[in-house]
Amino acid sequence: MSGLTVEAALARIFADVPTARSEEVPLSQAYGRLLAEAVIAPMSLPPWANSAMDGFAVRAADVPGTLRVLETIGAGSVGRFVVGPRTASRVMTGAPVPPGADAVVMVEDSHSEGDLTTIRVGAKPGQHIRPEGADVVRGAPVLAAGTRLTPGAVGLLASLGLARVGVAVRPKVAILSTGDEVVAPGTALGPGQIYSSNNHALVGLVLAAGAEPIDCGIVGDNTAALRAAFAAAAAAAAIVVSTGGVSVGDFDHVKEVVGAVDFGRVRMTPGKPLAYGRVGTRPFFGLPGNPVSCMVNFLQFVRPFIRQAMGDPRPFLPVVHAALRAPVRRHPGRVELLRVRLEREDGRLFAVPAGRHQGSGNVVGMAEGHGFALLDAETTEVSGVVRVQVFDREFDDGVDAAYGWGTVEEHPEGCC
Ligand code: AMP
Ligand code: MG
Repeated sequence: MSGLTVEAALARIFADVPTARSEEVPLSQAYGRLLAEAVIAPMSLPPWANSAMDGFAVRAADVPGTLRVLETIGAGSVGRFVVGPRTASRVMTGAPVPPGADAVVMVEDSHSEGDLTTIRVGAKPGQHIRPEGADVVRGAPVLAAGTRLTPGAVGLLASLGLARVGVAVRPKVAILSTGDEVVAPGTALGPGQIYSSNNHALVGLVLAAGAEPIDCGIVGDNTAALRAAFAAAAAAAAIVVSTGGVSVGDFDHVKEVVGAVDFGRVRMTPGKPLAYGRVGTRPFFGLPGNPVSCMVNFLQFVRPFIRQAMGDPRPFLPVVHAALRAPVRRHPGRVELLRVRLEREDGRLFAVPAGRHQGSGNVVGMAEGHGFALLDAETTEVSGVVRVQVFDREFDDGVDAAYGWGTVEEHPEGCC
């Protein structure tokens, strides 16, 4: 059978991934970005021992008992006195624990009169004190290169006093649909025309991949217009993605206009044809026009390329295991990516084919589906547990998940 396997195509594409470029951004823009370099803690957290409670800083050996109160220390101030025998300092949550004290007793366990407080309970040394460096020790690595900055990670950076952070540059991705028949939603359809779904689906896919989409619109099937549109796309973006016009039809001019196309077919369904090469110096992906094939190819090839180019240590979609609700009959020959909905029941994950049809133009399955069930090339009937590559993050919960296109890791000649 002609055409490349998915693994071979990925290996070919990954060979071209440029080294990740980084830029510094303020923390307010850091959410969702990928860390360019490991972060080493410039300070300890907590930076000094502080009280975890509103209460009294005491010497544990002195309680229970009646103690003389030296002062009140609020969060944001530092005490003036050493806590000596039979004395205490009133402390608020977050206030530095004064020297001499080795425990904090909750205000609820005390009774105060004038400058005396009676502590009714005993205390263990260290009680209700958050020691210096308990969370993070200065000089320790806290976040690895390639980490996706979650709200928690951004909060950690802020806690460490870092106002800016080095992250991978989000590549600009030019999106260009080709075809005399496709028009933008919002305009009236002429005879034989359809709306372009690909521009819009690709904008979402590029954003979800963490890159920056540049929608270059629609261009007709004529070589002069295509040439100009591709030149503009390459000037505007780091990666050029087009849809349509890469097959063998009379009006499929994309490959002719874009020189140096490396391959045109990949052995998966839906999928072919896929063109790959360069527009000028820019990596170029010529995706098929059929909406499902377009999205499938983006997710299998363009997304991993983008993630790898941003230094993501796991550039592939996660794969979970799910049980097919009913057996699926199929034609053997090529790996198949069946669009499925994932359903949870009693803690188990089930997969159900999404949409009424699984054709490369049936857009409902991509809208309703959460992932692709990866069906082996040679099977004719599939039942039981299948691997599902998840493209809807809601189901990316990591349960039971492996990353990558399974077989890539098993074959050393694969992508990485
Ligand atoms: P092509 O790859 O140009 O041969 O197109 C294959 C099929 O996809 C045809 O039925 C086209 O009408 C359809 N198609 C092409 N471009 C788009 C688009 N941008 N949005 C939706 N369908 C498209
Ligand atoms: Mg076309």
